[in-house]
Amino acid sequence: MVLEKNRRITKKLLDWYRRHRRDLPWRRTRDPYKIWISEIMLQQTQVKTTVPYYRRFLARFPDIYALAAADLQDVLKLWEGLGYYGRARNMHRAAKEIVATHDGAIPDDMDKIKNLPGVGDYIAAAVLSIAYNQPHPVVDGNVKRVFARLFRIDAPVNVQRSYSVFKKKSEELMPPDSPADYNQALMELGALVCRPATPLCAQCPLRADCLAFEGGSTAEFPKKIKRKPLPEHTLVIAVVVKNNRVLLTRRQEQGLLGGLWEFPNGRLGPGESPEAACPRVVKTKLNLTTRIEARVAGIRHAYTHFKIKADVFVCRHVGGRVRLNGPADYRWIALDEIDAYPLPKANHKFLPALRRVLNPKVA
Ligand code: SF4
Repeated sequence: MVLEKNRRITKKLLDWYRRHRRDLPWRRTRDPYKIWISEIMLQQTQVKTTVPYYRRFLARFPDIYALAAADLQDVLKLWEGLGYYGRARNMHRAAKEIVATHDGAIPDDMDKIKNLPGVGDYIAAAVLSIAYNQPHPVVDGNVKRVFARLFRIDAPVNVQRSYSVFKKKSEELMPPDSPADYNQALMELGALVCRPATPLCAQCPLRADCLAFEGGSTAEFPKKIKRKPLPEHTLVIAVVVKNNRVLLTRRQEQGLLGGLWEFPNGRLGPGESPEAACPRVVKTKLNLTTRIEARVAGIRHAYTHFKIKADVFVCRHVGGRVRLNGPADYRWIALDEIDAYPLPKANHKFLPALRRVLNPKVA
């Protein structure tokens, strides 16, 4: 009975997918390298955003050898705006490892592929199933939402311990001859039909078997553990100007936004004003004495675990030579050259205002 229901669901799902799937560039290839790149991008980014990045990336790095030979800065520049830059750094390291130890072939073995930097359960299962048609279930947010509603699963979808619950459910339905289509069909159904806020049950091929639909409880699933609101940090960002040039610093490679370039910044001390913090931060991190000339903008930005609110100032260099205390590197550049550097999104937020303050000619 259960087996029969599972087979029925899988068949309807596959039929639906083969008729309704979107024509996406990574679905036109079986090249494991291209599928690997697409899945790294898709892991934390929506399809619509991913498509142009995927195209640009493959035009520049068409195979694993091109990626392995690339400079990390060029990889980060192409990744700019996608966020979660650890993905790009790990992918670059993994490409080198694949060339050095796997003869340039993306491994088709679970243990070997999971040994690569940045390859966890999701990427491993996605690449092995989609590129090599192996029966490993992919469990992402879309898949969890579909199963939570379809089978009224109470396990909260936003905690790691629930992963095995959804993985097991997906294994039970996995068709041995079509793992690639099956995994993609589940993710596609979650993205297009069983949507987070308003599932389109009237168009759903699984409606007749869906327990949440039957019980009128689609809004109650998936269950989630309530998280505390994100903490907000207050920062200053300093655009230090000297001889028609501005100062950029590069972040250390490990950690948040690792390897990206940015304008020097730091958090306010207790009771400190942004105007006092700005020269102090520049002095502490760069050994430069500066004087604030103008406030450029106030910005806000949210990361995964915290938010920032920052005042951005243009500061005139008054004295001292750069001595780094924190950043990995620095450059004095003309503002026109800034597009050559991979910058975090928070910096892009005030660039138009900065150009208005400094142009037509950098002061
Ligand atoms: Fe989701 Fe509705 Fe389909 Fe159930 S019937 S799987 S809630 S879209």
